[in-house]
Amino acid sequence: MPGNVEEGRGEEAVNQEQKFYENSNESRERRDDFFKWVPVFWVLGSVFFLYFVYVFFHCIPLLQPDEEDIVDIAVQQRAQVELMAINFFTLMILLCYAMAIVMHPGGIPENDPRWHYDYNEIQPVNLHERKKTGDRRHCKWCGKYKPDRCHHCRACGICILKMDHHCPWLYNCVGFGNYKPFVLVLVYAMFDCHLIVWTMARSVTDALTNVHTPITTMFTLLFAETVAVFYCILITLFLGFHIWLINQNMTTIEFCEKVLPKDGAKTNYEASLYSVGIWQNCTSVLGSNPFCWLLPFCPPEGDGCNYTKSPVAGDLYPKDPYGTYGYDSPRSSFAQLNADEYPSYKGLEENTPAYGGSIQPPARMFPPMGYHSGSAGYGDEEDSRPSDVASVS
Ligand SMILES: [Zn+2]
Ligand SMILES: [Zn+2]
Repeated sequence: MPGNVEEGRGEEAVNQEQKFYENSNESRERRDDFFKWVPVFWVLGSVFFLYFVYVFFHCIPLLQPDEEDIVDIAVQQRAQVELMAINFFTLMILLCYAMAIVMHPGGIPENDPRWHYDYNEIQPVNLHERKKTGDRRHCKWCGKYKPDRCHHCRACGICILKMDHHCPWLYNCVGFGNYKPFVLVLVYAMFDCHLIVWTMARSVTDALTNVHTPITTMFTLLFAETVAVFYCILITLFLGFHIWLINQNMTTIEFCEKVLPKDGAKTNYEASLYSVGIWQNCTSVLGSNPFCWLLPFCPPEGDGCNYTKSPVAGDLYPKDPYGTYGYDSPRSSFAQLNADEYPSYKGLEENTPAYGGSIQPPARMFPPMGYHSGSAGYGDEEDSRPSDVASVS
């Protein structure tokens, strides 16, 4: 129990811990820092700048409002469609962006006793992520046990459910509660940038080739086009990465843990522990109704604390006679039996304390899958602490 952790620890360790608490409080106070909003203003400034140039330097001239006699209808209609598209995309970006900033990324529920330190685990909590000792992961800053996929964010000062990353461009964490609007910001921003890049290119070339074009118009169009190309590449790549993550049912933190594992473990590019098929992986982020996938409403089902394990991962742990997976069931010799079949499981038994048929989960179940009890960074400070609870009995 973490409550017993304090006993028997050196003074130095306690002092270091105190320092961490102070740092944590310091970061909470910084939440009101005006300069933390600068990236948000930058994003809004970019959106409005590109909107302004596209509308006033590209669409409106193509509408030919000053032409009284000869009007190119085809060009005019194209400009009308593009004007509607830019208005729609900009509106959706602003809506999703506001929601991603305002919505809570998800914290550990206060009223759920399973996450309280005084919870007696007679009724085992169904967790897939535990410490190497088999103890439950917990956060000393928040004073709670952590659900699966939950990590402490040092910038926000709280534990975030299914934490993806702390996003300075949102001045918020991206987690279970706001991942969908975050992804939709990228989706609409990508559409917006592609629209600008490909359709405004002709206005830019016209401005560059026409000697009568004012220099300010030429410069503004060229600058906006360059900015749009830059954002277009960045956002398309970033969105592609997140679409891949969604298909894998993985968070950015989990991706980093797999690709940059600690403890000298090998990089693991296999599917996520929580991957349950492309359809369910998508619905777990975008919601169960596909007609609402592109709307920042209809959040995914679930409480952010409980996750279905991948059936592939289940196959790696054959069912025991009690009909449950190896995690929460009395240990059998499965791991030993499968050690040769799954080479990565070698060493599983010798690192596992003798549970003697207790209900505690076996240790080191997850390193073979590329999982660790803590995180490789991204604000989860638990494992970076000098007095890791791994030392607690
Ligand atoms: Zn925490
Ligand atoms: Zn955060």
